[in-house]
Amino acid sequence: MRSFPQGIHPKPHKEQTRYTAIQRLEFAPYFVLLLNQQIGKPSLPLVQEGEEVRRGQLIAQANGDFSSPLHAPVTGRVLKRGLNLDMNGSMQDSLVIQPFPASGQSPQLEAPCDPFALSSLELIEKIKTIGMVGLGGAAFPTHLKLKSSLDKKAHTLVINGCECEPFLTADHRIMLEQPAKLLRGIRIILHILGAKQAVLALEENKLDALRAIEPHLLPHDQISLVPLKTKYPQGAEKILIQALFQQEVPSGGLPADLGIMVANVTTMYEVGQLLPLGQGIIERVVSVSGDGVQKPGNYLIPMGTPLEFILETLGLCTKSPQVIFGGPMMGKSVVCLQTPTTKGVTGILVFRGESRPKPQAPLPCINCGECLQVCPLRLNPCEMARQAANNQLEPLLKRFHLFDCFECGSCAWVCPSKIPLTQLFKAAKKQIRQKKLHPLKSA
Ligand code: SF4
Ligand code: SF4
Repeated sequence: MRSFPQGIHPKPHKEQTRYTAIQRLEFAPYFVLLLNQQIGKPSLPLVQEGEEVRRGQLIAQANGDFSSPLHAPVTGRVLKRGLNLDMNGSMQDSLVIQPFPASGQSPQLEAPCDPFALSSLELIEKIKTIGMVGLGGAAFPTHLKLKSSLDKKAHTLVINGCECEPFLTADHRIMLEQPAKLLRGIRIILHILGAKQAVLALEENKLDALRAIEPHLLPHDQISLVPLKTKYPQGAEKILIQALFQQEVPSGGLPADLGIMVANVTTMYEVGQLLPLGQGIIERVVSVSGDGVQKPGNYLIPMGTPLEFILETLGLCTKSPQVIFGGPMMGKSVVCLQTPTTKGVTGILVFRGESRPKPQAPLPCINCGECLQVCPLRLNPCEMARQAANNQLEPLLKRFHLFDCFECGSCAWVCPSKIPLTQLFKAAKKQIRQKKLHPLKSA
């Protein structure tokens, strides 16, 4: 099986959730819909405090092309517009919606259609209308990615089913349980791009998913299923391209430069499910796992569900939970229990604070070279850390290609001196943005 040369093998920890079917989580007593659920400008609200909204109704429009619209996750009343914490710990504009307990909660459909009777540009507009963003965690507006891939005449669509972060199994369950809708989404995107092939890549610990999808392939499908060795961070776009085609995306470049578009399994599934119905995205499958939660599993959770409600409903095994939104390698620690879920939340990991090892104070670098060996982009993490610690921002940017680092955490994971390499890189990037040293990344 193919793979990329570097990378690491963290313990997968997937057993808690990989065998249980997706279940719907009951509705929370209130929902907090953050307006900045995508990379780009926050959405612009279309509803006022006190207004009644219907599940699926458009309630905030895209603020220009680099943005996405939002739809009501429940039928209910807008209680207020105000500031709430997001997963990064910063206050963001949001709409608080209280559901009507007796409502049927059937979603409002905007404009059902036959996707294969529409042109590429019409479909891209529809994808924007339903508020689709990259559901693998990046939350990049899908219509923008499609436009740039179409402009660059992408010939290959890669569907990322690797789900290489430990604990997360939502993509795996979707591949097992919803192969028809997943394949419909892939066919729609192939139709938009006019691409000649699609490659669905998954890791060898998900071969049952491959067997579940195979019978749904049609004779004329240009879709192949490719198993890869299990390795982290294989699901990152550039790394996946390297693993599949042994091609490198140039420094500062995009997969579209090679004629490739990469999309995540959950995104393809939601396109296949929602676009023909003309329904906005209002909920998603989230893996809830870890030793601090009583009922781990994969749950269908409406966007805007407060974390405290999820923890109350699924039960805690600890009085001092440590919570991460996303996977343990690239996710974000969340301290405020009122933080709501968003389109980009792939998983909620709950750990017993008392059983977690205390963070070890970093020791000096011993020049062992471990970090160089695992970096999937062949960067020089130990030298980058030295430059960052000495505030040498210009060389970090120009000589060491700091912005190629996608903060996968592999270097920090292997470092025997426990140097917080990824944290140093994040802090240096922040400074570069603040000082506007990088014309593109400062925007
Ligand atoms: S965090 Fe950055 S430098 Fe470290 S291994 Fe990942 S890509 Fe390389
Ligand atoms: S892994 Fe840690 S100790 Fe080893 S070279 Fe890299 S930074 Fe230094």
